[in-house]
Amino acid sequence: MIELESYLQGQWVRGSGRATTLVNPATEAPIATSCTEGIDFAAALEHARNTGGPALRAMNFAARAEMLRSLSRSIHSHRDELIGLAIENGGNTRSDAKFDIDGASLTLAAYADIATELAKEAPSGAVLVDGAGFQLARSPRLFGTHLYVPREGVAVHINAFNFPAWGLAEKAAVALCAGVPVVSKPASSTALVAHRLVKLFVEEKLVPEGALSFIAGSPGNLLDHLRGQDVLAFTGAGTTGAALRAGRAVREHSVRVNVEADSLNAAVLGPDVADDSEVMNLFLTDVVRDMTQKTGQKCTAIRRIYVPANKVATVLERLGERLGAIKVGDPSRDDVGMGPLATAQQLADVRAGITKLLTETSGGRIVLGSTNPIAGGDGGAGKGFFISPVLLHVASPKPDDAVHTHEVFGPVATVMPYASEGADHGAAAVVRWVAAGGGGLVSSVYSDDKSFVRAVVLGIAPYHGRVTIGSSKIATQAIPPGTVLAQLVHGGPGRAGGGEELGGRRGLSFYLQRVALQGDRALLELISGQREATS
Ligand code: NAP
Repeated sequence: MIELESYLQGQWVRGSGRATTLVNPATEAPIATSCTEGIDFAAALEHARNTGGPALRAMNFAARAEMLRSLSRSIHSHRDELIGLAIENGGNTRSDAKFDIDGASLTLAAYADIATELAKEAPSGAVLVDGAGFQLARSPRLFGTHLYVPREGVAVHINAFNFPAWGLAEKAAVALCAGVPVVSKPASSTALVAHRLVKLFVEEKLVPEGALSFIAGSPGNLLDHLRGQDVLAFTGAGTTGAALRAGRAVREHSVRVNVEADSLNAAVLGPDVADDSEVMNLFLTDVVRDMTQKTGQKCTAIRRIYVPANKVATVLERLGERLGAIKVGDPSRDDVGMGPLATAQQLADVRAGITKLLTETSGGRIVLGSTNPIAGGDGGAGKGFFISPVLLHVASPKPDDAVHTHEVFGPVATVMPYASEGADHGAAAVVRWVAAGGGGLVSSVYSDDKSFVRAVVLGIAPYHGRVTIGSSKIATQAIPPGTVLAQLVHGGPGRAGGGEELGGRRGLSFYLQRVALQGDRALLELISGQREATS
């Protein structure tokens, strides 16, 4: 069995004490253990701040671009090995594994491109100018401007179990681009892929010492040692995020925190969409992909499906047909479309969540699937954390029903009707339903009715970080709502954690300190690098 080590202070270390065991979720066979007991996390953070920080800040944006590109290439050149590990430890089908691993290398490549662009604007890499400056008084000499400079702390990244490769890469890409060292902690249960990534980066010497540290296992008292120049970016359950925000060191030192949490993402079918149109096909394809890709363990997966009342029967029938055709089982087999959930706890939570939706939602019923676990792995009957896709229908939902408050993090979604009569074709009603989810990462609207789309998109926009629109003009080339892109913001208000990541260069601001400067214009331009020193 593999003993996973953490990479801290430039060496691989392992704690001594009770270990956590990682298993293959298809067979329940143990694969690896991790342990961090006794590790000195305060010293690890200091090393990152004092060694990795100066090394990264000494690199200009062009050098950071090279570094990010080398990380991207390293992942790509070990793609098959990483896919194998994701299948083994994450219960991913090959396609699920590619989504995670290719997503990781593409995001690093996207930030390499951003760093290349920034190199033109800020050749020194030390300072970025934030917008145009302005005259502050009658004399044109007295000027004000804003700069961004890298914070001199460490970025602690805590990730969820579902995207061990992309989760590490998407956060590290932005922090390293900004010049801030990273301490990355994946979820313990699926850490195998992230561990291998960091091993590759270290063996290939792709980052300076101290720029990328890694924790395999519990973070222990790590967060007690955060300080005012540090940042904490967390992805996971809303309850964990709230607890981390309330941590003593976070509060006392005003540590900057970003939380990416739960989300009850919605898909809205417009009243104009004909049964056999391309837009209907896109909608059905997106729903089925979101419900089953990664076994529904995707923060961006569609959980709530709003359909004009007169189309509910058709949509249920068509989703049922498509979902019913997906083979659930051993994810290493090519004919399998959906693997197991990632852990025994996940299976228990998903089953309990479906029961909650049924009992705490007005008139909810299962249209397809069941809460029963199913045998599907190589481990024999009863082994593996398998469940079928579960499609629910709620005929008369209420805003405070569990379907609007409780995220079931698995292959589960609920179809609900809206009244599409009236001058706005139901747009106002749809907005109320979607907003009842309390803030989400992404929702999608499928329609060619321009006034319906405009009213729904602008109505739900305050409750989201991203909205995707599926219409006939882009139906054959649309990117699914569940795919997070490096160029677009990822995050959402309220239940979704109130955070914001990625979004191209926007993402860098979390790791940078914005400072306003006022004084003699020539001096400000010298400091910001916009003017060359003359003497
Ligand atoms: P989780 O239980 O909250 O765990 C997330 C991470 O937090 C893990 O690395 C976990 O480490 C760590 N953690 C737990 N307690 C901690 C503590 N007291 N101090 C420091 N770290 C702590 O969530 P999960 O089960 O992995 O993920 C599922 C949830 O994540 C779902 O609700 C989903 O919606 C959400 N999610 C959101 C996004 C997004 O981008 N918004 C993306 C993916 C998932 P251990 O594994 O070692 O316990």
